[in-house]
Amino acid sequence: MFQFADVILPLPLSKYYTYRIPEELQSDMRPGCRVIVPFGRKKYYTAIVVHIHPYAPADYETKDILTLLDESPILRRPQLKFWEWIAEYYLCSVGDVYKAALPSGLKLESETLISPNPDYEEDEDNRLKDREAALLDTLSRHEKISVQDLEKESGLRNILPIVRTLLDKEAVFVSEQVKTKYRPKTEVYIKMSFGKERRDELRGIFEQLSSVKKQLKLLMAYIDMSGFMQRGELREVSKKELLKRADVTSVVLNGLLAKGILVSYTKEISRIVSMDSAEEAHHLNEFQKKALEDIISTFHNKDVTLLHGVTSSGKTEVYIHLIQEVLKQNRQVLYLVPEIALTTQLTGRLQKVFGKSLAIYHSKFSDNERVEVWNSLLLDKGIKIILGVRSSIFLPFKDLGLVIVDEEHENTYKQQDPAPRYHARNAAIILASMHGAKVLLGTATPSIESYYNALQGKFGLVEMNSRYEGMELPEIRIANTQELRRQRQMPGNFSPLLLKLSSEALKRGEQVILFQNRRGFAPMVECKLCAWVPKCKHCDVSLTYHKRYNQLVCHYCGYTYEIPRQCPACGHTSIEIRGFGTERIEEDAEQCFPEYKIARMDLDTTRTRKAYEQIIEDFQQRKSQILIGTQMVTKGLDFDNVSVVGILSADTMMNFPDFRAHERAFQLMAQVAGRAGRKNHKGTVVLQTAHPEYPLIHQIIHHDYQGMYRTQIAEREQFSYPPFFRLIYIYLKHRDEQLLNSLSRTYAACLKQVFGKRILGPDNPPVARIQTLYIRKIILKIENRASMPKVKDLLHQVQDEMLKDDRFKSVILYYDVDPM
Ligand code: ADP
Ligand code: ZN
Ligand code: ZN
Repeated sequence: MFQFADVILPLPLSKYYTYRIPEELQSDMRPGCRVIVPFGRKKYYTAIVVHIHPYAPADYETKDILTLLDESPILRRPQLKFWEWIAEYYLCSVGDVYKAALPSGLKLESETLISPNPDYEEDEDNRLKDREAALLDTLSRHEKISVQDLEKESGLRNILPIVRTLLDKEAVFVSEQVKTKYRPKTEVYIKMSFGKERRDELRGIFEQLSSVKKQLKLLMAYIDMSGFMQRGELREVSKKELLKRADVTSVVLNGLLAKGILVSYTKEISRIVSMDSAEEAHHLNEFQKKALEDIISTFHNKDVTLLHGVTSSGKTEVYIHLIQEVLKQNRQVLYLVPEIALTTQLTGRLQKVFGKSLAIYHSKFSDNERVEVWNSLLLDKGIKIILGVRSSIFLPFKDLGLVIVDEEHENTYKQQDPAPRYHARNAAIILASMHGAKVLLGTATPSIESYYNALQGKFGLVEMNSRYEGMELPEIRIANTQELRRQRQMPGNFSPLLLKLSSEALKRGEQVILFQNRRGFAPMVECKLCAWVPKCKHCDVSLTYHKRYNQLVCHYCGYTYEIPRQCPACGHTSIEIRGFGTERIEEDAEQCFPEYKIARMDLDTTRTRKAYEQIIEDFQQRKSQILIGTQMVTKGLDFDNVSVVGILSADTMMNFPDFRAHERAFQLMAQVAGRAGRKNHKGTVVLQTAHPEYPLIHQIIHHDYQGMYRTQIAEREQFSYPPFFRLIYIYLKHRDEQLLNSLSRTYAACLKQVFGKRILGPDNPPVARIQTLYIRKIILKIENRASMPKVKDLLHQVQDEMLKDDRFKSVILYYDVDPM
């Protein structure tokens, strides 16, 4: 029997900790089980067992595991391996991964419970302080209370230190208690108090109820819904549905319950939406069939294939057929999407085809729902397909056969904060290889990295170039805002061309989408007259305006510039700071089109999923005619009556201070343009820009993805960006700005000794201070062919070296590998 267990703690620790397994737990202990362990002073955590073995650690004395929480593992073995990979690659701790991976209902929170000591007597020489006395007073009303609740009830703040002194004085006890947060969901159901065989008695009951019309109505509704008078089994009727159907209140129901005619019962129900499959997969057209065959054949010698299919080519149907192939082998499928709230149409379609074998893992799901999905995968309850957002890569899959990453170019696949800062597409590729599964990346606008991998032969490549039902791609027309402004023909946000086409479309009863890049982006400086934008001499990205310093800053190298008084391009003194949001566009649109209903969709108007769905539904049912929105309108929406799309400012996207700005601008514009057009009716896109001469604009007009790719990949190579170089950002945070400045300079200098010119910075990131912490960023640009384990070793060495300096102990340091 093994006496020791290595465990993962939910803390950013660089290694596993070893605990002794008490004898009585030894026979039940398994890797993947949760245990409660003490760590630090008086702290208890839920940890996960990784290994069990007979070796005591050499350098510290072990503590005992307190409790074993599970009879069987809540993780499958490959998951631990996957966590370790993520921690290693993204330079974080396995504890960070553990925190991100498990739904919090499974993480079991440790709440410290304290109780008053009934035998306590105040010591004359060591009287209680006021705050201590006040706390003890509140506490004495309880037998046991958590620190959290006590804090609330006493109205005192930050009571932990007081609790500690009370502990020292033995006025209170502490008992740790762990409680699970998961609660099964229940629902109330209603049934007749007798069975069908006694249905003859109903007549008497009807007579009895003839004077209480509402009760009669309710009873009739029940009989109808349950099928009481028909052959076959009774259908279960929930209280909620019954009251809704009968259109009465629960007072009426209580009457029938009191008379003993109906009875109620409670039932545990699953939160996972389950629905029987009701639809067949559609027949594929010839292009889709070809694509499916090609994908399957690339899978013979490639593990990952990129499906590059124009918008509305019907990629979803291809996925569905591919999924069916995998299900035939009885293996599982993970279908990743960037954001579920944006894919109601997709969700509905998949549910209809796959019914109960599909489960959804949401970002807006409650934690209980997540636990249910987790458990049903763990217990193998028939779920074969998971449709989910990035965190669903952490679910306990048994045997994945296929991972689909839809809209693989989306940057929401990358987690920014907190650690693990992983990219779900890239991590999914690793996950798939651990299962021997294939990966299909799908998009109309591949990321430069994925397309590069495809061209290099690392990924398979399959193309679909025609839209389903031969709908044509929209015509893209340019409005030159620079010219229009100079001629004073464009006072607001809309060009005359956009106004004209929109009002014609609206008059024909068609709809219009106006697209404006995300609200509140980083402020920029621009020449009002010629639209000149300052760029960094070293990095070829637009500069960001920093109000605090009244300076322009390059976020890639940290170089700062003064704001020129005169425009270097046209010589005028018309430099201004700018940025405009969707609200202002809405106001403008209301003025231009007072007779139409306008809807705005951005982060502000779609805080809840309902709000979002309402906006979409209203627009689909043509209750609103103009839809104004940010990136949200570019995604996963299929409208059949939109004939004009306006891209209000291509420039704000192209000039965004990021080396991926043009790539993203192309992706966004191509996606939003894809919303224009209806069956047998080509749509029009009006693209407003001050730079019609930019190659990117030309590429958008001609739907020329390859052209865009060639330009961008050349720049990436020239300026040493991915996919040729790998980026690692090193962030340092501290309260004291001066100290942080000096420490981050020292740190960068130290890194430079190892990595030379591959180190840039330190500089101030776009948001240089968050919650009283100042932030500095150091960049490592490393050749793609460099050995990553070696790079990481070196990084850790420098970090260890720096930590010898005591001042560094208070600095928060973390890495962002492959930042987006
Ligand atoms: P994409 O994801 O490539 O942009 P979609 O999968 O959303 O395209 O398909 C666009 C539209 O065409 C959808 O309304 C879809 O229902 C329809 N469609 C695509 N393929 C088929 C098919 N084989 N049979 C019937 N309808 C299809
Ligand atoms: Zn720069
Ligand atoms: Zn100018």
